[in-house]
Amino acid sequence: MNNTFYMPTKIILGENCLNDNKNLLEPLGNKALLVTGKHSSRINGSLNDVEKALKDLNIEYYLYNEVEENPSLDTINKISTLGKLKNVDFVIGIGGGSPLDASKAAAVLINNVDATITDLANTPSLSAIPVIAIPTTAGTGSETTPYSIVTDHNLRTKRGICQKVFPIISFLDPSYLINIPISIRVNTGIDALSHLIEGYLSSNANILSDSLAEKGLEYFGDCIYYLQTEKLSLNQCEKLLVASTIAGMVISQAGTSLPHGMGYALTYYKNIPHGKANGLLLKEYLNFCNDKIKVNKILSLLKFNNLDDFGTFLEGLFGEKISLSEKEIIEYSDFMANNTSKLKNHPTKVTVEDIATIYKSTL
Ligand code: NAP
Ligand code: FE
Repeated sequence: MNNTFYMPTKIILGENCLNDNKNLLEPLGNKALLVTGKHSSRINGSLNDVEKALKDLNIEYYLYNEVEENPSLDTINKISTLGKLKNVDFVIGIGGGSPLDASKAAAVLINNVDATITDLANTPSLSAIPVIAIPTTAGTGSETTPYSIVTDHNLRTKRGICQKVFPIISFLDPSYLINIPISIRVNTGIDALSHLIEGYLSSNANILSDSLAEKGLEYFGDCIYYLQTEKLSLNQCEKLLVASTIAGMVISQAGTSLPHGMGYALTYYKNIPHGKANGLLLKEYLNFCNDKIKVNKILSLLKFNNLDDFGTFLEGLFGEKISLSEKEIIEYSDFMANNTSKLKNHPTKVTVEDIATIYKSTL
């Protein structure tokens, strides 16, 4: 068993935590690049809080506010070009996993002026300028993972960059999540749940990551029943955010496996949001897993009597079913069967037929 655990990000949690701790940004330099999505960070107050903190500290900043969902390499290129042009000292990612991941990848290219987009896939030794993460979804856990997932239109898929970029500080302010639309809350929340489950069942799991996964699952078991509630309290948002951040810590050690690997094709070809894509596959994945002791522990921490109840719950969350043709199942299964980095995280051998069966039983 691999008994190491490494997660070097300083985490600061609570309403107004950025303003209360803005002095932590001061040593990072004189120029910052803010990276965010098109609209939500301006509306939920996170972008205004960052701008105010930087103005108070006399730190110059530049804004890239066009990160799309599942950011493309083209977007990473645009962000890093701006960062290099302005010679920024650090990057602040604000938003869901897409802007956070885009910040990490751009921070690598900004630090290595001669590096190209291809190096993101091929040169693991490249380091990044400091990244600060301010999550506004409770889902990806990117605030505590070293991963950055990008969309590669040449390869027609999503994939992780090969560098490991942990944010140096993550500010978790639950007030940014208060007005999140229910569908985004559900999709992102189920991404966090997938991280807890896949990390707990991973071949890299150890006593340290399992302790976190069990606590995260227990927390998620409390959140699961209000995922679709119209209006959440600040405490409820905080619990979701903490569960998601713990889930990030779990996968920073254990990684993700089949649902994530198989979900990438559903996102790329069927435009299904990342968390939903994982969530659709979760029941059949648990059915497939051999470690029934851990599977039953997951169900009990989430407060489900059995796997069927869990499946019924997920179906209720996602509504209408999607369907795949026989040809699509073969293509997506072949693709997953070549994803060695995800397959190695599953503790037993997985065949292309196993993968096709999970797709078929799900969709
Ligand atoms: P996202 O793609 O970052 O954002 C989804 C939508 O949510 C966007 O329309 C965004 O609007 C909106 N949004 C974000 N915060 C909001 C708020 N507080 N209120 C209202 N709307 C809000 O979603 P995500 O699920 O968080 O991130 C998905 C990405 O993360 C995928 O690329 C996935 O592969 C990656 N991921 C990364 C890791 C990791 O470890 N790094 C792990 C799992 C997944 P705007 O565009 O206007 O901001
Ligand atoms: Fe994920």
